[in-house]
Amino acid sequence: MKQIILIALGILITAALFLFAFSNFYVAAIYSNTEQTTETVQNKQPIEIMPEKQSEEIAQEKQPIEIMPEKQSAETMQEKQPAELHQASGISVKEHTLSSSSKHMQYLWRDASGKVPQYKVYVYTPENCNGHRVFIDAGHGNNSFAEASEYREKIYPVPDDRLTGMNTDMVGSNAMGIGVEPREFLNIHNHMENEPQFALKIALNVKDKLLSQGYCVILSRNSDNQNLSNGARSVLAGETSDIMVSIHSNASVNKTSYGTLALYPGDKDYLSGEIHPGYTKIMGLTKNIKSSKQLADIMSTGISAKTGLKNLGSHTAVLRIFSYSSIPTFLI
Ligand SMILES: [Zn+2]
Repeated sequence: MKQIILIALGILITAALFLFAFSNFYVAAIYSNTEQTTETVQNKQPIEIMPEKQSEEIAQEKQPIEIMPEKQSAETMQEKQPAELHQASGISVKEHTLSSSSKHMQYLWRDASGKVPQYKVYVYTPENCNGHRVFIDAGHGNNSFAEASEYREKIYPVPDDRLTGMNTDMVGSNAMGIGVEPREFLNIHNHMENEPQFALKIALNVKDKLLSQGYCVILSRNSDNQNLSNGARSVLAGETSDIMVSIHSNASVNKTSYGTLALYPGDKDYLSGEIHPGYTKIMGLTKNIKSSKQLADIMSTGISAKTGLKNLGSHTAVLRIFSYSSIPTFLI
C-alpha cells in the first residue's frame, strides 16, 4: 500500500504540474449537437471530464464538428511506426505484446478475420528504475482505423449467466462494445486538437517526468496511429504494471458542468446513477477498490488544487476499461 501511495504521489505531482501549464481553458474534445451554433462553439467551454459510458452515448448520438478524416486500412496502420522510436540515453524502450494465454482473450475485440490483434504496449525503463511500474493510458486512439466502430468486445468479460442480478442488459446481442473508441472532434479552444491527441500529449509528458524520478512507465500508446481496445488496455496493464491511470479530457456544451473528475470501479455508476449489484465482485475487482479509490482521490484533489479547476471529486463507475482490470486503476 505504501508503494502504491508513493507512486500515486509521483503521478499526482507530475500530472498536476503539467496540467497547470495548460490550465487556461484547455478543452480537448467537444461533442456538438444539432442545436449548437457556431457562436456556441466559439465560446470557451469549461473542461468537463466525463465517464466513458456517457461520452460513448453522446458520441453516438451527436455529430462531430469536423468532417471525419479519410478512412485508413488496417494494413496502412500497421506499417506506421510509433512517433517515439527511442528515448533519451539511459532509458530502454521495449514492446510488450498481449499474452496469448490471457483469460480475457476470448472476450477481447477481434478484427475482421476474427482474430484478436497483436496488441502491444511500450515499456520504458530508466537505468535507475525504482521497481514501481506505472501504466499510463492515453485515452482513445487512431481515429481513422477502418474497423474502429465495430462492436466486437464484450462489455463484461464473463459468461452472460454470471451477470444475472447485475442489473444490466449488456448480454446476448447487446453484450459487445466498440473496440478502439475513436474521438474525432476537435477542441473548441483552438480547433487544433482532439481528445486522443491531447491525452497523448499529457501521457508523454507524465511519462518523461516519472522516468526522471526513477519510475518504470508503460504506455498504452505513444503515437496517434495506434489503437487498443478498452479491454486490451487493462489486460496489458495487468500484465506489465502495478497501477493504471487512464487519461481523458472530454468536454460538454453545458457550461455549468466543468472541472476535474476521477472515476474508479464500483457497483454504482456515478453518471447514470444506476446500481449494478455484484459488478466489482463478478469482475474480480474487489481487492483493488480501496487502492483505486485512494489514487482517484489523490488525483482529483491534486489537480484541482494545482489548476484551480473545480474538483468534481472521485466516484465509482461501471466502465469496460475497469471490467478487464486486475490492478488498482482509475480514470481521470
Ligand atoms: Zn475520453
